[in-house]
Amino acid sequence: MISRELSNSIKMKYDEISKVFGDFQGKSTLTCPPGCGKCCFKPDISCAPYELLPMALHLLDQGRAERVLAKALTLAHERCLFLEVSDESTGKARCSDYEYRPFICRAFGVSARHGKKGDDYSICRELKKTDSYVPDFNPADEDLPYIEVWKKRFETIDPKLLDAEVPINQALVVILEKVLLWDTFQKATEQPQECNSDQSCDKEEN
Ligand code: SF4
Repeated sequence: MISRELSNSIKMKYDEISKVFGDFQGKSTLTCPPGCGKCCFKPDISCAPYELLPMALHLLDQGRAERVLAKALTLAHERCLFLEVSDESTGKARCSDYEYRPFICRAFGVSARHGKKGDDYSICRELKKTDSYVPDFNPADEDLPYIEVWKKRFETIDPKLLDAEVPINQALVVILEKVLLWDTFQKATEQPQECNSDQSCDKEEN
């Protein structure tokens, strides 16, 4: 199932998501404080391995895939290994590979869910502490970015794409192992260069 085409389809969805969630944050009073990465500190962030396919191929292309896999195997239940913390006490941190972050990271901050008791929304605790947060903000007035709606859009790529959520570092292990195996297979099945003429083959043999 691993392919560059699949990764590109996921990346295209990510571009759409970033725009919708970003527009929503822009027109509401809910904008993340600069340099805040506290939401990434949670050790129980979970995602589906295929959310990390663009990330895994990016790591492969950069020659970092094996190294990151080895690290992820030792950090299975720890916080996300892409989090670079500059100050533990204040929670100043950044994502080392932000452009390739999975779907769940794009829906952080503010998102909405269709719950059993009706529509529900969640707002990050840190956002509520900012000066720009207006407590009487009415989400019903806004075009809320619903997580389920976006999950369904991923199903148009593949119905099982977002199945089997596990903690983020474990998801990374799963997808990196698949990508490294796929890469090995690709290289093994590459056709050797054929001789164009008897003359060139003879030369090689001599
Ligand atoms: S991938 Fe990046 S944005 Fe997502 S949890 Fe890890 S550090 Fe945070």
